[in-house]
Amino acid sequence: AEPALTINNLSVDYGFTDDAVHALRNVNLTLHKGEVLGLAGESGCGKSTLVYAATRLLPPPGLITSGEVWVTGDDGKQYNLLALNDRQLRRERWVDTAIVFQGALNSLNPVYKVGYQIKDAIKVHRPKWSAARREERAEELMDMVGIAHDRLNAYPHQLSGGMRQRVMIAMALALEPKVLIMDEPTTALDVVMQRQIVQQIMELRQKLGFAVIFITHDISLLIEIADRIAIMYAGEIIEDGKAMELYRQARHPYTKGLIGSFPPLHGARKELGGIPGSPPDLADLPQGCPFMARCAYARPECASYDVALQPTGLPQDSVGHTVACQLFVELQKDGVPLPTGLV
Ligand code: SF4
Ligand code: MG
Repeated sequence: AEPALTINNLSVDYGFTDDAVHALRNVNLTLHKGEVLGLAGESGCGKSTLVYAATRLLPPPGLITSGEVWVTGDDGKQYNLLALNDRQLRRERWVDTAIVFQGALNSLNPVYKVGYQIKDAIKVHRPKWSAARREERAEELMDMVGIAHDRLNAYPHQLSGGMRQRVMIAMALALEPKVLIMDEPTTALDVVMQRQIVQQIMELRQKLGFAVIFITHDISLLIEIADRIAIMYAGEIIEDGKAMELYRQARHPYTKGLIGSFPPLHGARKELGGIPGSPPDLADLPQGCPFMARCAYARPECASYDVALQPTGLPQDSVGHTVACQLFVELQKDGVPLPTGLV
């Protein structure tokens, strides 16, 4: 499939000085048209930083130090979002790529009615539309997320958390984006509501054909809904592959730990964090593989490993299955078998 969004070599620092935090380092990621891509990893691993940097919404003191983000526009041409000037950015924002923020259900303005806020968001990008047309579109969006039209006249506090979250999703879809990014869209909701909302997003995706980047701690949810999953650790993507393949044949020792710490696919959900130890200090990164201190397979060579995703090289894996672990480079090059438990 064609790419909807291509992230090349994206790096982000927080701060400029010697103790700058290297929150994101040389991330490469492609989202294909219509695909659901799950982004998982422990909190603080850079998931939110990645999507906010990739959409130019990174709050200060976050600083993009390298990279390109190629988006396919309405005309089918690609443009580098990171190279747009402010005027171009305002025009493109929410049109090609829309985002539902972490904690979004609290980001509606409490003093305005929901309908006013939806129509106002439409007005910014569709200034020539008549009030009637905007009203019609607002109703259409409410239909899409399963909320009665009369709720357009409600204030945010009059809606449940789940409904407010649906309103945010409706607003994100207002301009028919080709890419919808959702940062932990359901973590503030109870489990039943989470499931309903996720199902609704998946149905809308079927109908409207947008691609999704879905960020969550909940890797078991991703295994169910995502086509592909990218795993992040300490500001880098360390494994990327088809969801089921990652579930059955995780290759990176960290991914193995994550998957291993999860109950079976249809069992109860559990948060990440089943691996002893903690991630490295991003202001003072060790040489080599950032997972080394926690890795059961670590060897001296790992300390000089220059982390980069590459194909696993295993015949049983798909071509697109990539991993950033020294074992898969060196051992295979020398024809040395991988340690048992890893394959
Ligand atoms: Fe473990 Fe070495 Fe692979 Fe890092 S590079 S995950 S330390 S085996
Ligand atoms: Mg986050």
